[in-house]
Amino acid sequence: MPAYNYVCHECESNFEVRKPMSEIDTETRCPACGSVLTNRKISNVTIFSFSDGVRRPQASASSCSGCSTVGSGCAACRSG
Ligand SMILES: [Zn+2]
Repeated sequence: MPAYNYVCHECESNFEVRKPMSEIDTETRCPACGSVLTNRKISNVTIFSFSDGVRRPQASASSCSGCSTVGSGCAACRSG
């Protein structure tokens, strides 16, 4: 069963809940204060790993609008 990270809006505590994926959007109660005002945190978005520590000039990178999506990249931008 996968585990998900939640944050409580009442007490701002972070906690982990294991539940089946079918119940991912069901009500989740905060273990600290019992509030149901909780939100699941999206943690698998890794934008930072995309840049390999090399800073590229902003001018050449923004020339192609099709490359704004992470993972794609046209032939013009791949050669850069
Ligand atoms: Zn709470």
